[in-house]
Amino acid sequence: MGYVDEVIDLVVKKNPAEPEFHQAVKEVLESLRAVVEANEEKYRREALLERLVEPDRQIKFRVPWVDDQGKVQVNTGYRVQFNNAIGPYKGGIRLHPSVNLSIIKFLGFEQIFKNSLTGLPIGGGKGGSDFDPKGKSDREILAFCASFITELYKYIGADVDVPAGDIGTGAREIGYMYGQFKKITGSYEGVFTGKGLTYGGSLARTEATGYGLLYLTQEMLKYNGEEIKGKTVAISGGGNVAIYAAEKAQQLGAKVVTVSDSNGWVYDPEGIDLASLKEIKEVNRARLTEYKKYRPNSEYHEGRGVWTVKCDIALPCATQNELFIEDAKALVANGCIAVAEGANMPTTLEATQYLQEHGVLFAPGKAANAGGVSTSALEMTQNSERLSWTFEEVDAKLQQIMVNIFHNMENAADRYHAKGNYVIGANIAGFEKVANAMMVQGIW
Ligand code: NDP
Repeated sequence: MGYVDEVIDLVVKKNPAEPEFHQAVKEVLESLRAVVEANEEKYRREALLERLVEPDRQIKFRVPWVDDQGKVQVNTGYRVQFNNAIGPYKGGIRLHPSVNLSIIKFLGFEQIFKNSLTGLPIGGGKGGSDFDPKGKSDREILAFCASFITELYKYIGADVDVPAGDIGTGAREIGYMYGQFKKITGSYEGVFTGKGLTYGGSLARTEATGYGLLYLTQEMLKYNGEEIKGKTVAISGGGNVAIYAAEKAQQLGAKVVTVSDSNGWVYDPEGIDLASLKEIKEVNRARLTEYKKYRPNSEYHEGRGVWTVKCDIALPCATQNELFIEDAKALVANGCIAVAEGANMPTTLEATQYLQEHGVLFAPGKAANAGGVSTSALEMTQNSERLSWTFEEVDAKLQQIMVNIFHNMENAADRYHAKGNYVIGANIAGFEKVANAMMVQGIW
């Protein structure tokens, strides 16, 4: 058995009941086969892969808080500090009832390579809780966030581990968490990113993941002789990534016809109206069923269905495992030319392979959605400098980073005889830097 397969087996044996983590390890390690085989003796001697798949540490803790009825609720908090070979741990905090150790580990593992791929000095980590912010009052959110940080503060710091937002954690939650950190430690430091603009946040951070997704998609299309202008785009999700992906796609001259949430999806043949979408999701924190009130010619459908709509470009921006083999078949049948992942691991392995085999340009999340963490790293730089850059400065840097990411992954795929396979390219480009740093830092 080859080294890669041995380590995949080891991960499954050592971490039973962690299917998402197995899936992520399998996806990454299988795509590293060529580079691992070329360095097998050295990597085996150093147990490089065994060290890479074992987090530096994983912290699991109790999060008690009092609800509006005066009853004590208890959630579970997690922080997985996966690898800090190239910089402080960096990764978001996910608040969603589905959160468990497997999901946090898959996200933390992927984050190592994504962060490396940005070219910026940030390691990989991720955190979260099974707390559901939906339907909670501001006071309940504050109570949860304060309790979460009362434990987590011991493990984070501007040069140690810098959490950020993710599903369920937006500006409000980061504000509450930062406030509690400051209260406990008395330290005013850039320990979170995604902060508000009045206390150290970066302009363009809100837009960064969605905008970055489109900058990378634009470069990928350009390199392959296509352009975004005039294309029809299907987007899933209706949160931060989806909204700003839709905004940039429209600015670049595309027509976005769908958005979704976990209950259903919207088809707007005239193109999604962003002002209405933002009012529903960002201001009213309401459901997409509301959209039809603003746009009577649109359709609302219960359940899944975004990928059945005819489109040129598909941008899954909701969550993991939301684009399956039957969706990939529908996209190919409808003439889709490119899929770029705004979410983390939204496309199943089987669906990814099908898309690639049928000539669809496929940009994996760790490259395509790296604009968020890149801009977070730019926020860290601004905090260290104690300066704030303009929106245009940050946006220009973001654009350059996404263009570089595309060419780095394109080049890595080419070097290992997998031209056009950006899954392989992104993983190899991200892995090489981390592997080199680990090898020269001794055994840890
Ligand atoms: P948000 O919480 O803002 O939005 C998530 C959206 O996806 C919501 O519309 C949500 O619907 C929907 N959704 C969640 N779970 C499901 C599901 N099981 N089925 C269908 N729809 C679902 O999160 P973000 O936009 O920030 O994140 C979206 C994805 O992008 C995640 O995978 C995240 O890890 C990834 N990402 C985010 C970054 C960022 O900067 N925000 C950076 C890089 C990656 P509902 O309201 O019903 O829950």
